[in-house]
Amino acid sequence: MLDVRPPSPLPECGPRPRPPIANLEADPETVMTSPRPLLLALALVAGCAAPGEPDTDPLADHVVVDLTHAYDADTIYWPTAEGFRLQIDARGWTEGGFYYEANSFCTAEHGGTHIDAPVHFAEGRRALDEVPLEQLVGPGVVVDVAEACARDRDHRVTTAELQAWEREHGPIPDGAIVLLRTGFGRFWPDRERYLGTAERGAGAVAKLHFPGLHPDAARWLATERSIGAVGLDTASIDHGPSTGFEAHCILFEANVPALENVAHLDRLPARGFSVLALPMKIRGGSGGPVRIAALLPR
Ligand SMILES: [Zn+2]
Repeated sequence: MLDVRPPSPLPECGPRPRPPIANLEADPETVMTSPRPLLLALALVAGCAAPGEPDTDPLADHVVVDLTHAYDADTIYWPTAEGFRLQIDARGWTEGGFYYEANSFCTAEHGGTHIDAPVHFAEGRRALDEVPLEQLVGPGVVVDVAEACARDRDHRVTTAELQAWEREHGPIPDGAIVLLRTGFGRFWPDRERYLGTAERGAGAVAKLHFPGLHPDAARWLATERSIGAVGLDTASIDHGPSTGFEAHCILFEANVPALENVAHLDRLPARGFSVLALPMKIRGGSGGPVRIAALLPR
């Protein structure tokens, strides 16, 4: 029951000023400067000015890079999961004289840019609402394994590759969010190229071919380093052909969550930036959609 009359003027419903969008990349959705609400939230994390000190914005000298794919009909999910569904509940001018849109959405926990909570593969470990935010906000590192993954689309990132990164860039810092850049993010949202198959259903799972983390490297990260989380630009932290999901089991047993289908890792340096990975707080969830941002010094 929507009325198409133009609205009477309602100052509180007028257009709001938009934050400035930097044109650092062709895609304005992915790079922003000065997103005030986010920076204010971050400032709370980083600590505020002491009483009597002038207000300063600790993040004013940073660029924010969005590491998140949008949710829509093309968003890639596991072959056995239904895709993202958006239902329009209201869209148009109302009898009250104001414009109104509202939708409902339905999604599997593990599709698009999402987080796996430890309980996903480790009984008794943390559910999504129990993952401490301190684990999801921290120094970011990017381990670039794109060359190896271009040669072998089933490549599993080895401990030796992580150690080679450390020799070049220094130790992986405590609390790090370790991001593996396989290069497969460039295939999104082409299911055939990204997953190895565009087929859906249980029969498609055996046809998955994409890179992941070797179980030995997962164990090294979980036991020899003190990281917050690990993430990558493929659909799963275990590579496509995996049937035992060992990297999942090892990481999650140690309460290290995984970020999957991370976007735009090619826009980050190897280190020297911060990551915020803030998931929807689903009580008892085994995972869920996550908005991931990287903060780089300008
Ligand atoms: Zn998942």
